[in-house]
Amino acid sequence: MRVPAVLALLATGAWPVAAAPAIESLGTDAGLRLIKTSPADPGRWVTEEQKIRDYKSKGIGFVDVTDITDAQVLAALSAPDTQEKPFSAQAVSYPSNVGHQAEANPLVMKASTTNPKTWLKTLTDFYNRYYQSSYGTQAGTWLFNTTKSIAAANSAITVTQFTHSFNQPSIITRIPGTTSDLVIVSAHYDSTGGSSTARGPGADDNGSGVVVLLEALRVLANAGFKPKNTLEFHFYSGEEGGLLGSQAVFSSYKSSGKKVLAVINQDMAGYSPSGKISIYTDYVDSALTAYTRVVATAYTGATTSDTCGYGCSDHASARSNGFPAAYVCDERMDASSPYIHSSGDAYSTIMWDAVLRHTKFTVAFLVEASYL
Ligand SMILES: [Zn+2]
Repeated sequence: MRVPAVLALLATGAWPVAAAPAIESLGTDAGLRLIKTSPADPGRWVTEEQKIRDYKSKGIGFVDVTDITDAQVLAALSAPDTQEKPFSAQAVSYPSNVGHQAEANPLVMKASTTNPKTWLKTLTDFYNRYYQSSYGTQAGTWLFNTTKSIAAANSAITVTQFTHSFNQPSIITRIPGTTSDLVIVSAHYDSTGGSSTARGPGADDNGSGVVVLLEALRVLANAGFKPKNTLEFHFYSGEEGGLLGSQAVFSSYKSSGKKVLAVINQDMAGYSPSGKISIYTDYVDSALTAYTRVVATAYTGATTSDTCGYGCSDHASARSNGFPAAYVCDERMDASSPYIHSSGDAYSTIMWDAVLRHTKFTVAFLVEASYL
């Protein structure tokens, strides 16, 4: 995720329906990628290195739309943010109160920072987790194996790799329910240090979100939790390259007609001077966001709000494919970690009370939403 200040300045002109095929092949033949920095941005061809150096490092959000061919998705990515779904593929009603504390509370209390500390140490010890580097691929292998070993506590749970055109896979872990309707929690696991070759420990962004999901999975797997709705834990690759992993996953879910009740994306969950979870309100589903706030408040106390602009994180991929998505962050923008997208996003900067708070929220949300 990133800083939104410059985005409004970029929002000028109109987005043509699609880049002309001739131009498109010229760009991809040259190894360039087409990125959009706002709904109105018609797109521009850039190198991989430019994506990081000229956009990511400067806090300019973008979506890499090179491989998106679905006209509905392209239209959604060009629609102004009205805080509503750009097209209502899946309408869901959410409760206005929590209703499963008796079941959720004992599970929430099992959340700990013991394993997250070990896991985050390993994640941040990779030189970086850049999605096109060999380190990024190694981090994917480690995450796949670690997730499998956590999931082994319950033989019903499956762990799969979702492969992409680049080497770093996304990883999807599923706790099957009695219905195939999906409740998804997500976090990207790739990182950037500001260039393709820079050290990028990615502790807050987003090793923290990854270990939150792993710990929530550990709690539910060990408890033999049997949900009504099917629960999925998504670990995306290539987020820093323009939401690449999540775009491919949700494009596949859209094509196969999956029913998704909720996507809760967490990108940065380990740095919070305010001590409050922040629930962002732009480029999200407003009804799901309201329900997310109900659950977060009931289980973790008062929350804050903010906005983070276009292409902020993987919830934008869920939303542009027509699925209800919300974004839960560790802090408001003005007090968030100053170290992200640099070599300074180190293990030592992590506030473990924030990681625990997000883990408790995640366990609670999965129990509550398993009944949606
Ligand atoms: Zn991130």
